[in-house]
Amino acid sequence: MKTLQVHGKGKEYIVGKILCLGRNYVEHAQEMQSEIPNVPIVFIKPSTAIINSDEDIIIPKISQQLHHEVELIVAIAKEGKNISSEQALEYVLGYGVGLDMTLRDIQTEAKKKGLPWSVAKGFDTSAPISDIIAASKIKNPQDLRFRCKVNGTVRQETTTSKMIFPIEKIIEYLSSIFTLEPGDLIFTGTPEGAGEVKTRDIIEAELVGYTSIRHRVRTA
Ligand code: MG
Repeated sequence: MKTLQVHGKGKEYIVGKILCLGRNYVEHAQEMQSEIPNVPIVFIKPSTAIINSDEDIIIPKISQQLHHEVELIVAIAKEGKNISSEQALEYVLGYGVGLDMTLRDIQTEAKKKGLPWSVAKGFDTSAPISDIIAASKIKNPQDLRFRCKVNGTVRQETTTSKMIFPIEKIIEYLSSIFTLEPGDLIFTGTPEGAGEVKTRDIIEAELVGYTSIRHRVRTA
């Protein structure tokens, strides 16, 4: 079972599911040569994909092309279904930074054939996450800067103000389909600059001013 480390809280949260948005930043949709969506594009990672800072990201043997996607992550505090956007932030436990690690060659092949993304997005170590900063410590979640570096060079950096679907709308939409439970995580989409990492690269992701993670890449 994978759990969340929440700053300043003794309670342990077990992660049930990880709901992820695709294409939630205009420039990333463009770099993927994909349409800007009218409704959120949603996929799921299993909780077994989670690793914490300093654990290795492992490229499975089936892939030759691993990409990093840095994202703001939202942790859910309490059970909810059909949550309105007005009430959505009351359901948030806190925020952190995560990496939606993607086997791009496998995903590209799946897209071509109209097949699911589960392997490309859900393999073990595909969801590195930081500890969670309590929502009460964050004044405006729609004004957070986050970035990702590979071997010390910034590859992706943006603010959450640029999301196509803001956090309230994401929670409203997801909770109309899935019951949200305490400890569930939402990966809210990546900005432009998603790119390849190789064995021995070091990836650092940072929610600027709050928390960060660091991972080495290796082959299985
Ligand atoms: Mg992503």
